[in-house]
Amino acid sequence: MTEPADLAERVREGDLRIHELEEHADYDTAVAARRLVVEGETGTELDSIGDYGFPAEAAEPNIENMIGAAQIPMGIVGPVAVNGEATAATDGGAADGEYYLPLATTEGALLASVNRGLGVIRDADGATARVTKNGMTRAPVFRVDGVAEAARTVEWVADNLDALRERAESTTSHGELLDVEPYVVADSVFLRFAYDTKDAMGMNMATIATGEACELVEAETPASLVALSGNLCSDKKPAAINAVEGRGRSVTADVLVPGELVEDRLHTTPEAIAEANTRKNLTGSAKAGALGFNAHAANVVAAAFLATGQDEAQVVEAANTITTMEAREREDGTTDLYASVSLASLEVGTVGGGTKLPTQSEALEVLGLRGGGDPAGSNADALAEIIAVGTLAGELSLLAALASRHLASAHEDLGR
Ligand code: NAP
Repeated sequence: MTEPADLAERVREGDLRIHELEEHADYDTAVAARRLVVEGETGTELDSIGDYGFPAEAAEPNIENMIGAAQIPMGIVGPVAVNGEATAATDGGAADGEYYLPLATTEGALLASVNRGLGVIRDADGATARVTKNGMTRAPVFRVDGVAEAARTVEWVADNLDALRERAESTTSHGELLDVEPYVVADSVFLRFAYDTKDAMGMNMATIATGEACELVEAETPASLVALSGNLCSDKKPAAINAVEGRGRSVTADVLVPGELVEDRLHTTPEAIAEANTRKNLTGSAKAGALGFNAHAANVVAAAFLATGQDEAQVVEAANTITTMEAREREDGTTDLYASVSLASLEVGTVGGGTKLPTQSEALEVLGLRGGGDPAGSNADALAEIIAVGTLAGELSLLAALASRHLASAHEDLGR
């Protein structure tokens, strides 16, 4: 049997390259050998990084040059009381539309805060959540010789959507081409392809399908493909197009919290929370030129993404969330708090990518959402609804802490 030390020695002698180790031993041995090389060269001990709890081979599609795992603490919040469309159709990880949401983070106080918000949402009879739009996008950029050719290309695309659909969908048994939106900038033509990728986040699926469709565009129009991604997609970069048009799932959640509950549980008033939201999340964000009009939506989304195996770089898109808070007057003159979050571009999946890793797969199992849904797409929709309600809870709790001026003391109480 090949020993890690022998392999490491061969790397040091230049006989093997560090990315070739898996070709000469089983995955765990190769990972251990690579760690020995790094330990030797850097004078560090990697006991913790090397103490991972899944077979290295399971991570083969997800990482190259593996040396171990970055272990991030994971906790759960909940139950998340969600009156959703997709969540109502799933069995769920818990009864009655209540789900435990796994979150992975290093930020102390985050789960405590989200849990406080979820408790208030439960006592307010749950939040309503809906996926209002669904479309994973890829936007290749083509070169033409000028505006006239650009117009001809756009016209051909409009007339040949069915042919493009046939080519694109020939690469996938799940993906469906929904639309192709053209954008012209002089001699550059961008075609923003949007797909229903069902339970997959869909970035690979959309890229492969779009590559196939591009061959038809090149064959039938004067356009010449320059790059399969022309940044109008727009993946993993802050971009207004995602905030306006959406990308992945556009999901909205809202709750009406009785005024008494706001006072008893959040120690403030609907008016104070609404004012904090307006001045901070709306006016402050506008003045800052922000794309996101929220308090910390990315916090909950990032923690849920890490726990459930989503592509963590796509937290960028989810950060464009808009939070609204409004004091709604009752007939007796008292007020309730209407609270909402709208995530225009939440890119989530329950199949593919990191969702297959053993840890993340278990986290999805906690939600009852591991793998493909029935019908296809319903598990990813349900995940989007649950993350949206978790985000709403985070917004509610943080804004209440600010409105009641408890933010600093809450962190102090938890020693963080
Ligand atoms: P994927 O792991 O590449 O593919 C998932 C596949 O699962 C689908 O293509 C589909 O096969 C199959 N599938 C089985 N059951 C399904 C169901 N119920 N619903 C939908 N699909 C089902 O995952 P992906 O979501 O397309 O892409 C995510 C990965 O892309 C992540 O690892 C991410 O990091 C990476 N990524 C890639 C790019 C890029 O440009 N390529 C950019 C950003 C991120 P069929 O298609 O045959 O039906």
